Amino acid sequence: MRAAGWTPVPVPDSRPPATDGDEGTGPGRCLDCRHGRRVQGARSTFWLCQRSRTDPRFSRYPRLPVLSCPGYEAREGPIAADRAGPASPP
Ligand code: SF4
Repeated sequence: MRAAGWTPVPVPDSRPPATDGDEGTGPGRCLDCRHGRRVQGARSTFWLCQRSRTDPRFSRYPRLPVLSCPGYEAREGPIAADRAGPASPP
């Protein structure tokens, strides 16, 4: 029961946005960008944009999937298995 005159006030959520990196759509361009780094949390996976450290135009945790990005730079070499996202069904 709510007290009379009491109005709920939304509390800003300082957590990074939940990603869909493990839910089938993947991180998009961040997957093979040299500035992207996969961060495994207790219950979620996030993609950290390391460009955000030096360039305020980039979000620390971009909304995924990133379909195009002016900061994208291709990573050299193959994509490591831990960056590739969920395995495809057999
Ligand atoms: S520069 Fe763009 S593509 Fe690369 S990690 Fe950051 S947001 Fe993703």
